Amino acid sequence: MAYDVDLFVIGGGSGGVRAARTSAQTGAKVALAESSRLGGTCVIRGCVPKKLMVFASEFTEQVAIAREYGWTGQTGTFEWSDFRTKLHAELDRLESVYGKILSSNDVKTYAAHAHIEDPHTVKLSTGETITAGHILVATGGHPVRPDMPNADCAMVSDDIFNMDALPGSILIVGGGYIASEFACILNGLGVDVTQFYRGDQILRGFDDEARGIVADMMIEQGITLELGVNIAEMAPVEAPDGPIRIKDTNGKERTFDKVMFATGRAPNSHHLGLQDVGVKLNDRGAVEVDAHSQTAVPSIYAIGDVTDRIQLTPVAIREGMAFTETVFKNNPTAPDHDLVPSAVFTQPELGTVGLSEEMARRVEAIEVYATSFRPMRSAFAERPNKVLMKLVVSQETRKVLGCHIVADGAGELIQMAGIAVKAGLTKEQFDQTVAVHPTISEELVTMHAPVRTA
Ligand code: NDP
Repeated sequence: MAYDVDLFVIGGGSGGVRAARTSAQTGAKVALAESSRLGGTCVIRGCVPKKLMVFASEFTEQVAIAREYGWTGQTGTFEWSDFRTKLHAELDRLESVYGKILSSNDVKTYAAHAHIEDPHTVKLSTGETITAGHILVATGGHPVRPDMPNADCAMVSDDIFNMDALPGSILIVGGGYIASEFACILNGLGVDVTQFYRGDQILRGFDDEARGIVADMMIEQGITLELGVNIAEMAPVEAPDGPIRIKDTNGKERTFDKVMFATGRAPNSHHLGLQDVGVKLNDRGAVEVDAHSQTAVPSIYAIGDVTDRIQLTPVAIREGMAFTETVFKNNPTAPDHDLVPSAVFTQPELGTVGLSEEMARRVEAIEVYATSFRPMRSAFAERPNKVLMKLVVSQETRKVLGCHIVADGAGELIQMAGIAVKAGLTKEQFDQTVAVHPTISEELVTMHAPVRTA
């Protein structure tokens, strides 16, 4: 049977656009629907604007360091509206780049919501119906608020980039990537930041030693980090968009100009007709897929955050490319989810690949090589910044099972260390590499004695 297109992609974020492009490059006829803006979460309301805000927020500390190095001058004031105008111009530019990637590869793009009518048919909110050999669901996810009265008066991460003005004070709820990154960003921009985390330490799942240092540094920089606490009640003081009065789980009441929930994200799997055609969702609403991203309906595949495997842009991109190999290049390819490096863009950053010390010791006997110190740049400037370089090593195979770096630029460093860990290199192979001196990362090849075994 002839279909209108070989592939219909639902969702124009990083994963969907990559799959559409690479599939079209095989000669397939491809169409894509995006109901919001091309670029998706990463480009429009995630990684990209967040990283630009990280850059903006770091100048306060850089000027403080500069003064210690003999420069005169003050930071001045941060003009949010100037920055926001430039930020949005950049996001518009990137959105148009994504549009050009699609058009130059002959992918027909619809600015519409797509609903799956049957395993080979989508109906668009514009009224058009399109048949497709394959349908790829790449609809991403969205931030969720806890279910409590007045939760709507709090912001979520999507809202940060559109604020009219920076608040004087903010309460950020959550201890994950987004909460911790925005606590640092807003603190650096001069906002009085309080962060509530319901557990005993932020960044659950990361190496304990690493997250402890990040938390200490955040407190040192002036963030009020409160652990083992949550919001019990909240209500706007007057107008819904004005200050918010909260009562915490210890019974203490306070008012903040803004509250932001960074309490996780949920898959965009509803209102697509998925279950009606036989696609299975798990109890979190994520699309269930096999190793090749195929759903329970053979003609329908899903990639990226909507599948809730690893919520990272480069992972969605890999899944998109593996989809093209599998479906359009007759080369069944399972995306590799093992040893994925990542970075939390706190200040300092936390870069990680592989197993934490706690996870590794549950699996096998390990040696831990770690050093924590004040880097030369900060020590000279009498700033408190601390660095951690840590390797978790298998006693039996000598392989480096995990690498954890807390440092300015840890995101850049972990990309390089990730190659070595992914390649399965041993501690001795790390040590065969001559150090680059004087750098902070030279410690990765000069830690000769384990600090502990377990
Ligand atoms: P996370 O799942 O990382 O963190 C959610 C946080 O909210 C956790 O600390 C969780 O606590 C807490 N939480 C959940 N529900 C409640 C509640 N009802 N009350 C109070 N606290 C609650 O989600 P994020 O939103 O931070 O990030 C989503 C994903 O986006 C990440 O998993 C990551 O993959 C990706 N991301 C990656 C970035 C990067 O690569 N730099 C940057 C930003 C996002 P608990 O630990 O107790 O469950």
